[in-house]
Amino acid sequence: MPKAFTDESIAAFELLSITLGAVEDPIFVKDLEHRFVLLNDAFCELLGVDPDAVIGKTDQELASLCDVDLQSDSDGRVFETGDEFVGEQALTDARGQERIVSIRKTLYRSSAGVPFVVSILRDVTERKQAVKLLLHQALHDRLTGLGNRALFERYLQKAIDDARRHARGLAVLCFDLDRFTVVNDTLGYQAGDRLLTAVARRLQSVLRPRDRVARLSGDEFACLVEGCDEPQAALRIAERIHEAFRQPFKVGDTRAQVDVSIGIAWSPGPESSQDLLRFADVALHRAKRKGGGTQVFDAGIDGAATERLHFHNELQRALHQDELTLYYQPLMDMATGLISGAEALIRWRHPTRGLVPPDQFIPLAEETGLIVPIGDWVLHEACRQTVLWKRRFGLGCEFNISVNVSAKQLHDSGLASRTREVLEETGLPADELILELTENAILEERARARELRDVGVKLAIDDFGTGYASLAYLRDLPVSMLKVARPFISKLGRDVVDTSLVNTILTLGQDLGLLIVAEGIEDPKQLALLRQMRCHLGQGFLFAKPMPATEFEMFVAKNAPVSRRAAPAWAPRAAADLRMRSAQSA
Ligand code: C2E
Ligand code: CA
Ligand code: CA
Repeated sequence: MPKAFTDESIAAFELLSITLGAVEDPIFVKDLEHRFVLLNDAFCELLGVDPDAVIGKTDQELASLCDVDLQSDSDGRVFETGDEFVGEQALTDARGQERIVSIRKTLYRSSAGVPFVVSILRDVTERKQAVKLLLHQALHDRLTGLGNRALFERYLQKAIDDARRHARGLAVLCFDLDRFTVVNDTLGYQAGDRLLTAVARRLQSVLRPRDRVARLSGDEFACLVEGCDEPQAALRIAERIHEAFRQPFKVGDTRAQVDVSIGIAWSPGPESSQDLLRFADVALHRAKRKGGGTQVFDAGIDGAATERLHFHNELQRALHQDELTLYYQPLMDMATGLISGAEALIRWRHPTRGLVPPDQFIPLAEETGLIVPIGDWVLHEACRQTVLWKRRFGLGCEFNISVNVSAKQLHDSGLASRTREVLEETGLPADELILELTENAILEERARARELRDVGVKLAIDDFGTGYASLAYLRDLPVSMLKVARPFISKLGRDVVDTSLVNTILTLGQDLGLLIVAEGIEDPKQLALLRQMRCHLGQGFLFAKPMPATEFEMFVAKNAPVSRRAAPAWAPRAAADLRMRSAQSA
């Protein structure tokens, strides 16, 4: 119990009211009849009332006098049960403004046993509004004001639950503007933004207010139609949208004719919101491939797609749950028989399927774009591991790590800067990393390949001989290594044409200062022939199969030391030639 020292000149009540006045939180006290018996200035300020108008009144009397609605029906319960009440409530002040307060009500008794309830309030209106605003921003697209993907998925999940409960159908329509990039490129981003806003408005005008429209990303929109019991109903909506898009859009001073492709997923008993959205996306891509219009997802036709979707979901999970792992296959120096590096090869440790080889999931990852984050992981992991090995085994700069890069990754504009980042993060010198690309990828993305070479890494053409790059092209490509594809090597000595082709590649490659790797060496005869032809490096089951990191370490322990060996005879010339070539191309 707090004690008060009162000078006779200060009455106890005066001391109490001064103290209450100094408290920032609004406080009021009510008696058993629910009348205000004590309150502080903060409370009167909150309500915008005069203290004299409040004292002695009940909530109802106060409301009729000055439009204050305290909605404090919890007082009765606190008096009855004696339990403390803690909660939030809305109230309207005398200025007619709604405020939200957090409130704590506690029952006390005077020494004479008279009960009274003390309420302590805190005005949380601004905090609530800020939270509401943040929530709105997190779930809406700032440009168009439409919901974003996160909000759409929420509505979709709720709609799926409702549809199941009431045995109704449901459709998701995904839209993608045709040739939107043309508008962006020719009229500029501002015009692009204006167009997107206009598209959002037009979509809303065609659809019913309760059909949820969202902007998923860039020029991709989606709409959710509840109570859609047959796919034809969704098709009719799509037709209305196509019709509405026949009118050109006004973008600044010009008019732009923009078409839209539509993918529909319809389902009477659909799966998860993500699946339904992906079904619509599969249909949308089919529509785009056909040059526009509308496509409905059909589990029959797209059955394979459904299966792949499942696989895709699993692969996405694999990436986040450390199910992916790297195997390493050594590259051997043909002259010395020592290790010159390793190629990192991905594997998927699937919980039920066991070890899945890359051929069974990389093509799908390429198709769905998942190869970009996967490739990113591979790059980082291979570099990290290599730096560790270099330290542990004292491997020098002769030990290079090769990483496979798919065309889609090369196409992605971020690869060069991401590679630079990974090198910085892991501390691997750039010229000890080899990126293996296919001939076709390099031919199609020469500028991107040059960007990569400018990072300082080496580029290799993987599976050389299987693509379009003829030997004549080689001089102009930013590469320093050729990996001769396994089919040529396996026919060495057995097929005259292939044997002489390998010989030609080796001669020309050496003239151009390129390192030549023979892939898939399986028997000693092939090895002997390749040695005669002065092939630089070899890789294949004859030396070792790809193996997990721990096994690879044992292999290194047997076949090192690499750093102290003499450089092979061809090396200085190759390096000098490369310098000359890069000087020419600079
Ligand atoms: P690749 O880049 O041509 O890799 C060489 C493949 O040949 C590997 O198959 C390797 O195990 C196999 N191989 C090596 N020596 C021999 C041999 O003497 N005989 C035979 N029969 N095969 C040999 P793997 O590991 O199954 O990889 C298959 C393909 O998957 C790779 O072909 C590559 O294109 C792709 N891949 C692997 N890892 C990655 C990755 O991290 N990213 C990307 N984008 N692709 C990858
Ligand atoms: Ca490769
Ligand atoms: Ca290869």
